[in-house]
Amino acid sequence: MSITFWAPKAPSSESKFPCLCEGDPQCSFCKGTGEEIFSSSLGEFNVANGSGFAIQRWLGFPEPDWGGTLPLAKLEILEQGLLSLQEDPRRLAFGADLHFGSNQDRANGYLTKMLALVRVARKASSPLSWG
Ligand SMILES: [Zn+2]
Repeated sequence: MSITFWAPKAPSSESKFPCLCEGDPQCSFCKGTGEEIFSSSLGEFNVANGSGFAIQRWLGFPEPDWGGTLPLAKLEILEQGLLSLQEDPRRLAFGADLHFGSNQDRANGYLTKMLALVRVARKASSPLSWG
């Protein structure tokens, strides 16, 4: 199981991959087109459950949960919190030690992805959802 963070009103993008059936009209994945289409919204990212909960606690979400929504009005505060984490490597390292083992690169990666997602959401006047 995993938790996805995304901005519901952000534009979505589609990725096409060749289907393994090579165009079988009975294929339930591509319906004979030979291409599978996966859509995702801009900024969307997916993490393992444990990391999803850790990220929520680390970033100060009100209640770590399987799913939820932060309203647009709270995203400016969230963005400022993320920026202050980013500007304070010792706090980021502490967060990494506390929640992600000693893998600071991973913590940095999550921070970068979340910051990008918050900016996408604010630009699209979207709340931020996870689930
Ligand atoms: Zn197919």
